[in-house]
Amino acid sequence: MAFALPSFFTAIMIMSRLMAFIGISKNNDMSSKLQALDIAPKLSYDPLAIESASQDFGHIVKAVPQAVLLPSSPRDIASLVNFSYSNSVPFSIAARGNSHSVNGQAMAKNGVVIDMTSIKNGNETGIRIASDGSYADVGGQQFWIDVLNATLGLGLTPVSWTDYLYLTVGGTLSNAGISGQTFRYGPQISNVYEIDVITGTADFVTCSPNNNSDLFYAALGGLGQFGIITRARIPLKPAPKRVKWVRMLYTDFSDFTRDQELLISKNGRNDNKALNYLEGSLLLDQGSLDNWRSSFFPPQDQPKIISLITKFRIVYCIEIVKHYDGQTKTTVDKDLQQLLKGLSYLPGFMFEKDAKYEEFLNRVHSEELKLKAKGLWDVPHPWLNLFIPKSKISDFNDGVFKSIVLQRNITTGPVLVYPMNRKKWDDRMSAVIPDEEIFYTVGLLQSSGFDDWRTFEDQNKEILQFCEKSGIKVKQYLPHYTTKEGWVNHFGSKWSTFQKRKLQFDPKLLLSPGQRIFNNNQ
Ligand code: FAD
Repeated sequence: MAFALPSFFTAIMIMSRLMAFIGISKNNDMSSKLQALDIAPKLSYDPLAIESASQDFGHIVKAVPQAVLLPSSPRDIASLVNFSYSNSVPFSIAARGNSHSVNGQAMAKNGVVIDMTSIKNGNETGIRIASDGSYADVGGQQFWIDVLNATLGLGLTPVSWTDYLYLTVGGTLSNAGISGQTFRYGPQISNVYEIDVITGTADFVTCSPNNNSDLFYAALGGLGQFGIITRARIPLKPAPKRVKWVRMLYTDFSDFTRDQELLISKNGRNDNKALNYLEGSLLLDQGSLDNWRSSFFPPQDQPKIISLITKFRIVYCIEIVKHYDGQTKTTVDKDLQQLLKGLSYLPGFMFEKDAKYEEFLNRVHSEELKLKAKGLWDVPHPWLNLFIPKSKISDFNDGVFKSIVLQRNITTGPVLVYPMNRKKWDDRMSAVIPDEEIFYTVGLLQSSGFDDWRTFEDQNKEILQFCEKSGIKVKQYLPHYTTKEGWVNHFGSKWSTFQKRKLQFDPKLLLSPGQRIFNNNQ
């Protein structure tokens, strides 16, 4: 690569200025040139399309693009990137999966947003299952729910999921893709054999741990900075038929975390006695029994749960799942009992459900439909997602849950708290996690009104300030920083590799500008 590293910052500065300038001169230059392209008919300037590409699930940030590309195939994407890359005045480009980011990460101010969901199910972009059933080739624009339905049709399934399945494969692989399976199977980025990527230089590259591995590791967890993922090869396993689904309540935080850590210590991928899923959450005074995770509890038990919450103000909940099928039907209860032996949950506060595998995996969708019906889904989402080293999780509980959250008394929506094992992650990838062997994810998945989201953002800021002051080395998941210093600090020892890879795969800083890592003018 032509730049020496010290001159990288100069190059970044020049490129950022250039991109800002593009914002000014765009109308005279970019639009007219775009219209001369072969993909011109697929570029939409329709105000509704532009409006939709200017927003996301967060409903907090707005950035208006010049146009929206509705590609039919990866070739259309490569044409667009190639055009920008070779233009004397390049413009920014953002792949938009289902736009379920909350801070504008899939937006491109004055650039072009690619609506990935318009890609047709073709040879490279549909969902194709290997004849031996060991993997599926899946277009980057596919929703995970469609991957689930297609694979289940053949009695197969991926092993690592997100809580919510109406997210795209390319979108979650650009972050990590975490859920209750992560402790055992790793995040979704640890469950990919191979990907196709269109880089910022418009090269179409197939990459894997053995082939173009630098791009493979860069793109996984790469926040869309190195290329647009158009296909991923996802390993499959035989699918279970049903699940035993259990929740247990605690009022003591150290009992709660000790039991979680005990449960995730049995984590072999092929260990049939291990749990298949473990998460945890807080039940808080202010309406947690009425959010998208709470319909689990039997109506007749809700009064006693509510009085427990009223008494203790915070109740901790462990949620676990064990899969079973025709063969293990007779042993699953015994295996579960074995796993739960010696745990310290409150007597009388263990609740159990039996559900179809797909009903469990798609659990958030039914809650989404209920919230949509009440007009409570498309509202601002001032979310904060953190990874916290195990050694500091108790300090976090005291300083954040028991102090900031209780004092402010505004948190509505799920608050997730569950541990995962570092060894299930691959440090060569771009995703950033704490150094300790066990770390917790905490997700404050809050909904607010259109006029009070700043109050929640203030709480998020206070939480981050508390962590900094108390020496709790948190890493943000779905990170959002507004300064270069923030990003350098976030990536830590990975920052220089991240920069080098950016220079190699997207030297003109075209891709995913809404992350605001290299394009601070967004
Ligand atoms: P977008 O928001 O559209 O894009 C995210 C980023 O990736 C952007 O920078 C975009 O430019 C880039 N990008 C999109 N597609 C591609 C591609 N094909 N190639 C390269 N870059 C691309 N996350 C979890 O890990 N676990 C969860 O359980 C979970 N639950 C969620 C529940 C809800 C209700 C919501 C709203 C979000 C949840 N998320 C979860 C977060 C979610 O994974 C991320 O927000 C993810 O980015 C959303 O996917 P998307 O397809 O909408 O991506």
